[in-house]
Amino acid sequence: MKYSFIDVPSCNMCGDKTINSKVLGKRLNQSQGRNPRGKHGITTTVIKCNSCGLIYADPLPIPFDIQSHYGVPPESYWKEEYFHINPNYFVGQIEVLQRMKPFEKGQKALDIGAGVGKGMIVLDKFGYDVYGMEASKSFYDKAINTMKISKDKLICATIEEADYPDNYFDFITFSSVLEHFYDPNDCLKRALMWLKKDGVIHIEVPSSDWLMSKLFNFYYKIIGTDYVTNISPMHSPYHLYEFTKDSFDKNGLNNNYIVEEKYYYPCDTYMPKFIDKLLKWYMGRTNKGMQLAVWLRKT
Ligand SMILES: [Zn+2]
Repeated sequence: MKYSFIDVPSCNMCGDKTINSKVLGKRLNQSQGRNPRGKHGITTTVIKCNSCGLIYADPLPIPFDIQSHYGVPPESYWKEEYFHINPNYFVGQIEVLQRMKPFEKGQKALDIGAGVGKGMIVLDKFGYDVYGMEASKSFYDKAINTMKISKDKLICATIEEADYPDNYFDFITFSSVLEHFYDPNDCLKRALMWLKKDGVIHIEVPSSDWLMSKLFNFYYKIIGTDYVTNISPMHSPYHLYEFTKDSFDKNGLNNNYIVEEKYYYPCDTYMPKFIDKLLKWYMGRTNKGMQLAVWLRKT
């Protein structure tokens, strides 16, 4: 894999200068394990914005060929359960949406990064007129051929290529998408252009306050290294950013939205049962879960 390394002059979400940010440490282009000192590879510097808490890489590695990150998954990737929709899938998110914006027939929803179309199917069941966008051709083909999503509703395009009328949608969702974009601020701007006034955007991203990252970073420090576990700009799952609620509050001042709801999802810690339970309880109480969900309203 070949990368160009780009200087990042300011925080993508709030605009604060990178020179004011805090250096967290360095990140290898592979899983670091218990002792990263023994590993070969290239690293970049991981920093945290002093103003909004966004975690990002400076310099930012950009692959010469994006296919080296997101190439077509092989046929063996597609397991039966991938196409099974759990009865609770996306229902909690729709309940929050309907608290914020009571459902009326004809409301339009857009799923950005629709995958194989599961979110589209659930939104359709709730009565929305649903559209979707999926950049990966193999995911798109599975959505059309296996999940029977209509070709009129789902397009195979990136957010930069997609074109919808202004003020068209009542609801837009990005689940586990924004952290993969090099310019999340620009993606939010595009989505907000397509959203009606008072419309709602739901976003789920990795949280920069995740307890387990802090514990791993502490461990790396006590063994005498300056590696950190945050983000993965040069290896799977290719997360370029970790966000805080403040990142969205400050971004909303420039992009005309407010954060009305937030939620942190804990995660499995793979520790012994008792410790796992304790850590999950603590993450729940202190907003230190792995994933941050925000619901934004366009003002
Ligand atoms: Zn910032």
